[in-house]
Amino acid sequence: MAETESILSNLNPEQLRAVTHGKGPLLIVAGAGTGKTTVLTRRIAWLIATKAARPEELLALTFSDKASREMEERVDALVPYGYAPVNILTFHAFGQRLFEEHALRLGLAPDAKVLSGAPLRLFLKKHLFELPLKKFRPLANPDRHVADLIQHFSRAKDEAITPEDYLKVARADAASAVSEAELGSAAEQLELAEAYQAYDAILHREGFMDHGDQLMLMLRLLRQEPLVLEKTRQEFPWILVDEFQDTNTVQFELIKLLAPPGTRDNLTVVGDDDQAIYRFRGASLANILDFKAAYKNAETVVVTKNYRSKQDILECAHRLIQFNNPERLEARENLDKRLQAVATPANPDISGQAVFYQVFDQLSSELADLSSRISQAVAEGKRSWRDHAILVRSNSGAEAVIQELNYRGIPSRFSGARGLYRQSEIRLCLGFLRALANPHDNLVLFEFLVGEVYRTPVSDLKALLFRASALNKSLYQLVTRTDLTRAGEDTELDPEAFERVEKALSDLARFEQLAREKGVAAALYQFLTESGVISRLLAKNGAALPAAERQVSNLARFFEKIKVYDQVEKSGSYLSVIGYLDALIEEGDDPPASEAELDADAVSVSTVHMAKGLEWPVVFVVGLEDQHFPTSRRGSGLNLPASLGPQIHDERAHHIAEERRLYYVAITRAQQELRLSYARDHGGKKLWKRSPFLQETLNLGKDEAPALKLSQAEKLHRHATSDGHPLKEPLQIALPGEPLRLSYYPIDDYLTCPLKYKIAHGLRLKPPATFSITYGNVMHKAVQEFNKAGMEGRPFSLEDLKKAYTEGWRSEGFYSREHEEERFQNGLKRLESFYEDEKNAQPRRQPIGVESRFEFKISPLDSVSGRMDRVDRDADGRVTVCDYKTSNVHDVKKAESEVAKSLQLAIYALAWRGSHGVLPDLVELYFLESGIRQSLKPDQAYIEAKEAEIKLAFKGIREARFEAKPDFQTCKFCAYGQICPDSAAL
Ligand code: ATP
Ligand code: MG
Repeated sequence: MAETESILSNLNPEQLRAVTHGKGPLLIVAGAGTGKTTVLTRRIAWLIATKAARPEELLALTFSDKASREMEERVDALVPYGYAPVNILTFHAFGQRLFEEHALRLGLAPDAKVLSGAPLRLFLKKHLFELPLKKFRPLANPDRHVADLIQHFSRAKDEAITPEDYLKVARADAASAVSEAELGSAAEQLELAEAYQAYDAILHREGFMDHGDQLMLMLRLLRQEPLVLEKTRQEFPWILVDEFQDTNTVQFELIKLLAPPGTRDNLTVVGDDDQAIYRFRGASLANILDFKAAYKNAETVVVTKNYRSKQDILECAHRLIQFNNPERLEARENLDKRLQAVATPANPDISGQAVFYQVFDQLSSELADLSSRISQAVAEGKRSWRDHAILVRSNSGAEAVIQELNYRGIPSRFSGARGLYRQSEIRLCLGFLRALANPHDNLVLFEFLVGEVYRTPVSDLKALLFRASALNKSLYQLVTRTDLTRAGEDTELDPEAFERVEKALSDLARFEQLAREKGVAAALYQFLTESGVISRLLAKNGAALPAAERQVSNLARFFEKIKVYDQVEKSGSYLSVIGYLDALIEEGDDPPASEAELDADAVSVSTVHMAKGLEWPVVFVVGLEDQHFPTSRRGSGLNLPASLGPQIHDERAHHIAEERRLYYVAITRAQQELRLSYARDHGGKKLWKRSPFLQETLNLGKDEAPALKLSQAEKLHRHATSDGHPLKEPLQIALPGEPLRLSYYPIDDYLTCPLKYKIAHGLRLKPPATFSITYGNVMHKAVQEFNKAGMEGRPFSLEDLKKAYTEGWRSEGFYSREHEEERFQNGLKRLESFYEDEKNAQPRRQPIGVESRFEFKISPLDSVSGRMDRVDRDADGRVTVCDYKTSNVHDVKKAESEVAKSLQLAIYALAWRGSHGVLPDLVELYFLESGIRQSLKPDQAYIEAKEAEIKLAFKGIREARFEAKPDFQTCKFCAYGQICPDSAAL
């Protein structure tokens, strides 16, 4: 078969054995770049091509979103056109998916929001006094242990320890403690256990979860519900796991549940113990050893050929990692993991020097050197931007790199960027929010008034400030007392300046009220809208279009973080927003997945953690100073009880070994050129020393090399050479040859107005929820619960339906309390009629699908994905696919035209055809507000017409054509009407 031939082409014998392995467990342990991920993707393709598995039966688990996307692209290229998609997901996404399907069984809200980082700390601070704490909540500084507690709870969850388990052990230990030391530690553990239980309960009560929950809840679900477990096992008879060395206990427990050893264990895992960088506790080896213990009959494959890097790089990496002996598989199991570079057409030259090392006097020299090297290589046509990556140990290290690249006009994409808060557009938001929360801070108010929106002349303000301090008042007090200042004979204030100040303050008062009523995000959005900040950025023919796009996209990301603040705060209090902002800035950007990937051809700036599994022709690892990499940071010192989790005895040695693996990951990303560097002077008093890892990698002597100084003139000269490089490219959603997957909304938005698509889905700016969205969501969820019960044959009363609705209710977006109440009652009535309608239907309707996931290809690289609200099959076998609507449609004529227009229905019909080979008999809209059901029989002509429309959207998006399509009716109802420079309704 020609298909399988290409799947197996170029594989070495070990790889071939792994790819074509039949049923049963398989373990591949091998060093970096030996094709582990390649083997997984080829194996997926091989299983499909030989019909051993259907694509939807395969579940591939990866460690990051980026890794999922990469694998998806690789699989896509190997699986022939016309197949359903393989489930390639991160563990967390998989957990989230199961959770959403079964949340109610766990007694939780399906839309529970996942909190992490600053929002989670804000949450714990807010509820700190509800936790039974003593030692860990010192009166003088109650917040002191918040971060440690969160980390501790998160570890407990990683180790699959439930609050009940923890409490049981802590109580038993407390009961048996004798010595003073034992008593002390037992009391501490008991306090932690009780706090853990309370934290978990409050988190869920408030409608949130943390990252650990996404997996813990799934574990609980599968353990508690045999039916769900069986269904999930049947759904995924084949499981494949990349980066297995980094799975934690709870993930491994899940794997063992889904692919039980000895019975239904079609399980392939690949890993490299030397690259274990997330196993904070316990030994890096444990996972792979545990796997061998659990799956005794697993076939093991070892690969030592490396297809990524030049030999020089591999030698260095091997030399370094030996320093982690004997706690390594190679040493322990007597394996040979010494890698051998293999020349390939992509990487033909594997000999010669590939590792370069440089010491610089100053950070600025280090950065100037790397940016000029990159610029030069691109200018000479040797490389493109995307061939380069700059890896840093921590988010804070990325900041300076990004600034340097921006300054030099080098396009870059960053994963995890503290730089966000330094951008002018975000500083503007920060200034606004600070002024909102604390207008009495003179400096804050001063900056707000002179900022780009109100532009009060500095000289005038200085005079006012002076006067305020003379009167012993805050600037705010002074200027809000208009009588006083107006009459102020002794100040000669420019009347125009005064007006500006007045305007700013009256705006601020208005926004403050808005913040109290509708949340800080609403106030911020209104500020950005009214001041014209966003519309100016979006305006056509702006001088630097791509830069403006990035600014809007940054605003969108920042805005999402502020929405989370409102969700956690709930009470309408905006006072703690400053603390929240400080925490956000402090931690940098978390999670790093929220990447702004606007520039297609761009230099990657990444933390080493986020670079795992990836590769680039040229890799710079910068900031290799001792204490920076390895970091000097140590843990909180909190341990889990000895019987529950692995204990760390030598914290420091453990830390260095872990950092060494991280560094090993960093240097094994490089294909042809690896540049290692550090700088002595980082601007403080201290002069930094080189990282011990440099010495281990390069076998350096004791003396440090002389530092390279770049003279000021040289730096300038180098800057000059960067002139003429293209600036950042404008927004591009998919490069030619890259797959593109869209769901209904983006396609529909594009067809309505390409600019709308660009703002909503390209730049991802989402305005605050409107009441109709909130209302539509909760109606959908309630109806969905009803349908699910119907499908599973469970009884579901009207009361259950009302309960699902009431519990799912959210207060976002309503004009007033009264308005909200009216909508709420209206929804209850509508659900009653819906219930009646379903009850009286003859014959009884029982859905065969609810929220069924689908994906189909509309061309080899373009696919459409989504979920169908409901599918019914009647006694004669006729299939109807239904979409629920909460829009106001009250007459049949209107309903008919809506059905004919509906792109969603056409997508359902195509999806059904994709998975069943025939069109459904009917597609239908069900208008919940009026009870009207209107259907249509899809025929060939209808399908072709709609297909053509969808293809048009894909084409336009690929070609990055985002010109507005203004139209009075459309613009009037558009969520972006207020900020759109092209709106026809303004
Ligand atoms: P890591 O440990 O970093 O995750 P890995 O073991 O998963 O690495 P891959 O990313 O799968 O390795 O492969 C590294 C590179 O080698 C890729 O560019 C891949 O295309 C190439 N490669 C793998 N196997 C072969 C082969 N048999 N022939 C040619 N190239 C190969
Ligand atoms: Mg890999």
